[in-house]
Amino acid sequence: MARYIFITGGVVSSLGKGLMAASLGALLQARGYKVRIRKFDPYLNVDPGTMSPYQHGEVYVTDDGAETDLDLGHYERFTGVSAHQGDNITSGRVYQDIIAKERRGDYLGATVQVIPHVTDAIKQFALADQGDHDFILCEIGGTVGDIESLPFMEAIRQLRNELDPLQTLSVHVTLVPYISAAGELKTKPTQHSVRELASLGIKPDVLLCRAEHPIPDGERQKIANFCNVRKEAVIPALDASSIYAVPLQYHAEGLDDEVLRGFGITDAPAPDLSRWYDILDRYENAEGEVTIGVVGKYVGLPDAYKSLNEALVHGGMANRVRVNIRWIDAEIFEQDDADIAAQLEPMHGILVPGGFGVRGSEGKIASVRFARERKVPFLGICLGMQMACVEGARLVGIEEASSTEFGDTSEPVVGIITEWMSKEGLQKRGADTDLGGTMRLGAYEAKLAANSHVSGVYGGSASISERHRHRYEVNGAYMERLESGGLIFSGMSPDGLLPEIVERPDHPWFIGVQFHPELKSKPFDPHPLFSGFIEAALAQSRLV
Ligand code: GLN
Repeated sequence: MARYIFITGGVVSSLGKGLMAASLGALLQARGYKVRIRKFDPYLNVDPGTMSPYQHGEVYVTDDGAETDLDLGHYERFTGVSAHQGDNITSGRVYQDIIAKERRGDYLGATVQVIPHVTDAIKQFALADQGDHDFILCEIGGTVGDIESLPFMEAIRQLRNELDPLQTLSVHVTLVPYISAAGELKTKPTQHSVRELASLGIKPDVLLCRAEHPIPDGERQKIANFCNVRKEAVIPALDASSIYAVPLQYHAEGLDDEVLRGFGITDAPAPDLSRWYDILDRYENAEGEVTIGVVGKYVGLPDAYKSLNEALVHGGMANRVRVNIRWIDAEIFEQDDADIAAQLEPMHGILVPGGFGVRGSEGKIASVRFARERKVPFLGICLGMQMACVEGARLVGIEEASSTEFGDTSEPVVGIITEWMSKEGLQKRGADTDLGGTMRLGAYEAKLAANSHVSGVYGGSASISERHRHRYEVNGAYMERLESGGLIFSGMSPDGLLPEIVERPDHPWFIGVQFHPELKSKPFDPHPLFSGFIEAALAQSRLV
């Protein structure tokens, strides 16, 4: 049976629990252990699919089509383990299942209660699908003391009693703030947070203390004394130069040693951290730089494009260059006095990312046009690819070209899909079905045209699998006319019906993809579309 590590957070939110879980997973993996990381989200949405990126950051999509918390992206990027539906649960989903059962009469007249019904469902989720994993890490969203997270805390408390004492471990992430007026680090918030956790019946084994200043030995001892843990189990977690420095930093502070000790494991193999040294070296010792303009909608909140941001960094690592990202609000290109050229001329590459809704769409189309005309490397992702097709349609004289997502149009170059093939067979959907869970989601295969630019980017592959999250498709009825304007359809769904990839052979690097390649990029395995895009941007930077 797998060993369980429960990760909770205290004092404030945004302490980086997700990165911490991902880094600990990576450190255990570096010792040869098989790990899996799960996220428990206490909010009542069934999944984050319908939440605004401003509320919740990016929605991360798994191969099996689950719309999940962005922390699952960190887990995958740090461990390479492909997440699935069963790795993210919300209170909403738990209650949805329980209420459906109650309506069916499955509880045989019993009163349905938080304890035991909700807590049992949470425990089942934690214990499900253990496979041959050595460790399953479970991160609990939110902060200890939140009303919403109480059933999750209670489920952990019960599990810690039910499983073997050497089978579970509690890691609590806290903050040790620095009060500059006093010139002191303060341990009291950590003490209070541990007391709150203890009042729920959970004694932490390891404390990971986020701090902006080094935590002196004396303070570490003080935290240990007041919080009832060993001094060695108080791990200082100082701000890192890059998220990719975190695993090495936590290892240097003894995190993985202390975790293994907590499980009574004394014969663990030494970790092979060469992967992380290489990643950090590529990141810190870049030999040049490129500037990429990302023309999107949610540019005020970097978390809304988390995976995209990381995939661009990975593309930089592959080419040993630093990638400066300029987040540009597409709406500013829609103003009458907009000077698009002045904004985009300094860019060595232009990327139009995924998105929803009409806002900024004309600005995105204008950016595609600029990239095409000026021969600046261009990558269009999902909505970005759709906008490349609308721009291509207008180029061949279809002036009203648009997407039905933006309202009624006489030229639906992009339209709603009502039927598509998935592994489960033919999927059907009407234009008026619910917004939640009605998209083409998850991994789908695409066939690549031989000798196309994109098949070269993918190392000569004839078939690829990438993750999707969209409701609209480029309309096959326009393909011929678009091709007459030089836009080639170089990737199609296996049945030949759905356009997956477009490119322009008369352009140095112009590719639009209906899927989200950023979701599968890893620092140790940069996605070829991003390596290729940054390579082209580097060539562009040498031209200007
Ligand atoms: N809004 C578009 C669609 O639903 C694109 C989605 C996306 O970019 N993820 O098809």
